[in-house]
Amino acid sequence: MAKVAIVGRPNVGKSSLFNRLVGRREAIVADMPGVTRDVKEARVEDDLGRSFTLLDTGGLWSNDEWQEPIKRRIEAALADAALVLFCVDGRAPLSAADYEVAAWLRNVGKPTLLLATKLDDPRHEESPEFYELYGLGFGEPLAISAEHARGTYELLDTIFERLPEDADEAEAEEVRVAIIGRPNVGKSSLLNALVGDERVIVADVPGTTRDSVDVRFDFGGRPFVLIDTAGIRRKPDGDVEYYSKLRSEEALMRSDVAVLVVDPFELGDHELRLANLALQAGKPVVLTINKWDLVPDEALREFEKNIAQVLGHLDFAPKVYTSALNAYGLHDLLAAVIRVYDTARFRVPTSEVNGWLEVWTQRQAPPNFKGRPLKLLYGTQADVAPPTFVISVNNEQFVTRAYEQYILNRIREDLGFKEVPIRLIWKSRA
Ligand code: GDP
Repeated sequence: MAKVAIVGRPNVGKSSLFNRLVGRREAIVADMPGVTRDVKEARVEDDLGRSFTLLDTGGLWSNDEWQEPIKRRIEAALADAALVLFCVDGRAPLSAADYEVAAWLRNVGKPTLLLATKLDDPRHEESPEFYELYGLGFGEPLAISAEHARGTYELLDTIFERLPEDADEAEAEEVRVAIIGRPNVGKSSLLNALVGDERVIVADVPGTTRDSVDVRFDFGGRPFVLIDTAGIRRKPDGDVEYYSKLRSEEALMRSDVAVLVVDPFELGDHELRLANLALQAGKPVVLTINKWDLVPDEALREFEKNIAQVLGHLDFAPKVYTSALNAYGLHDLLAAVIRVYDTARFRVPTSEVNGWLEVWTQRQAPPNFKGRPLKLLYGTQADVAPPTFVISVNNEQFVTRAYEQYILNRIREDLGFKEVPIRLIWKSRA
């Protein structure tokens, strides 16, 4: 787990910050080579499950003298930290020692966030003392007050933005595609047509059972893994629907994108249920209408209309028309898969989210709840795949369905998430 270290002179509020971020969790005292005095260590986790280990180096520097042995100890503690939180008192003029510590930190060379502590009141950010902090050379200081929990939410957000992605997350660039759909819609045939050989045997024999197969191949320079859910046709006790659901769920969990294959002649509840499974799992869906070769030319329009009607709530998902038999539409299908895959991983900078929030609330004012207005304070994209937005509000109870829908639509349209499922979390600011 990534480590984040708090560094700063005595009495700038390091342990208050540590306690505020750690909450009620127990801090343990780290046993680090070369560190003779206490370094407190605890895990910080936000409500989206993201986490890091927070170190408080305050114990290494309890008298105010900036001496070699102290430097050495803190350097040892910082050895495997991914990020440093450099705390300075935001209300006091900078001292020579602050500049010295800043110069030393630049030398240490770790990514560093400058925190101006004890700023209980926004007015403090107008003071000359605050502007002086830019002179330390770490860019814009983040104003926080550990006592009043001011700025700590934004701080967490910034920390997660700065931390390197988990190694296994960064490596996962192959696009994992679950091919789901009721039996006989042509899932295996499509897979074979895509992969270009007969690696999966398509059998028309009743009672044929196959296990799901993962097939790797490249398209447009990108690696794909196709997860087929065929082989669920007949199980001993004959509950096809049940097994189909189970297998589809399992395939969905392992996938990045769901290709929902439908037969234009057989559309119904089963398709809806599968679509909902995918959306609940937060997976983008590419609706694939297969056997398009069987639809007579004069009926194309009518079929399109019927599909739009039956799968109405999937209207945001891209639709492609294919024929596994004639290898028709396969390029469109993979292109749509790549498009939604990339879209679901797109990250909008926090400043942009907040810029738009202002525009959206101006265009359509938030509702009132018993005379008290809903206030949208701050927004951020907290996660990708599915893109997850967290908006801080004065009171989440004041959010109406209609306003939520309005914001969801704006996120889709203005931030570029039209074709994928997104999540929106409202958070009351304490
Ligand atoms: P699965 O159960 O969804 O994997 O479906 P299969 O791939 O086993 O296909 C079921 C039947 O539909 C087979 O007889 C296929 O040959 C046929 N089939 C699949 N795709 C198409 C298509 O695009 N057009 C036509 N005409 N037949 C297809």
